[in-house]
Amino acid sequence: MDVFTEVSQPSLKRARIDESPNVAHWQRSDEFWYPDGSVILIADATAFRVYQGILAEQSTVFRDMFTLPQPEVMESMDGCPVVRLSDHVSDLTHLLREVFGKSGYFDRDCKDKIPIECVGALTRLSHKYQFEVIREKALGLLRDVFPTSLPKGYIDFATYLSKSMIAMSAEDCITVVNLGRLTETLSILPFAFYGCYQVANTNVILRGITRGDRTERLSQEDIEAYVKGLRLLLESRPDGFSNVFISGGQCECDTPQDCKSWFLRLMHSIWFKSDPWGPDTLGPWTSYLDHFPAIDRPCSECCGDINAMAVYICQEEWDCLPDKFQLMVPKWSVSASN
Ligand SMILES: [Zn+2]
Repeated sequence: MDVFTEVSQPSLKRARIDESPNVAHWQRSDEFWYPDGSVILIADATAFRVYQGILAEQSTVFRDMFTLPQPEVMESMDGCPVVRLSDHVSDLTHLLREVFGKSGYFDRDCKDKIPIECVGALTRLSHKYQFEVIREKALGLLRDVFPTSLPKGYIDFATYLSKSMIAMSAEDCITVVNLGRLTETLSILPFAFYGCYQVANTNVILRGITRGDRTERLSQEDIEAYVKGLRLLLESRPDGFSNVFISGGQCECDTPQDCKSWFLRLMHSIWFKSDPWGPDTLGPWTSYLDHFPAIDRPCSECCGDINAMAVYICQEEWDCLPDKFQLMVPKWSVSASN
């Protein structure tokens, strides 16, 4: 989008600056009002007095805005030129905190999780105004949390998110999908769609979520991809179960009858459950062993087969994620064999 259509236009040198009649309606930001600031940004009715030079140093769009010729008359406030932006106040606040070094989220020794609202704001606005360093940091974080290879030690999605650097829940994956689309960062999409699949109430994903002053919804195209992927993932679970446990009972161990009987009892124990497969197709299948006391297990050889097959099936599921959600992702699962 052309950001120049929504900002006051330039030559700060030659322009005659008239005090805007709207000044009375603008509220000064408590956080960003530097008395010697040289430009005023307006989002909604909030005014931020900050420094042109720092914005121009980090953002190509602001640099161009401050150097291109300005209209003869431009709005002003407290003697500073005014730039009107169409962004949410919360988004702009998150961006300015990063620009003026107040957030510290990306500092090397920072252990705080970054709220998804902040990641979203930084990604959206750094992309829009071309704050390249901030954009790379935000996208780097998203790539880390939504990788192209199956995370080591993956147990389930909720546990995975709880240990990640972003403070978010599974439904916030709607935001991640939208950020991936906005920035054309396709590699984060499959696992983000998978996160949407983890939300038990599908209506949440279909209707969207509200966070602060923003509502996030999937596009119509992505809703269709989500629904198709949801169906395929649910269908694949029984097949995975068969492969892990039925095949696992076929090995030539010393106690074949006992082990086969165990597999049959496992089948029977889960067959009539309303949700026998659970939502997480990437999670360890060995949780099914918990249906039985520790002493009531197949032989160690069969257990080894189960574990090996479970690892294989999870990797296969991961490899197929882009296809299930109709995504073309270059270099997906490149480290699968490592
Ligand atoms: Zn056995």
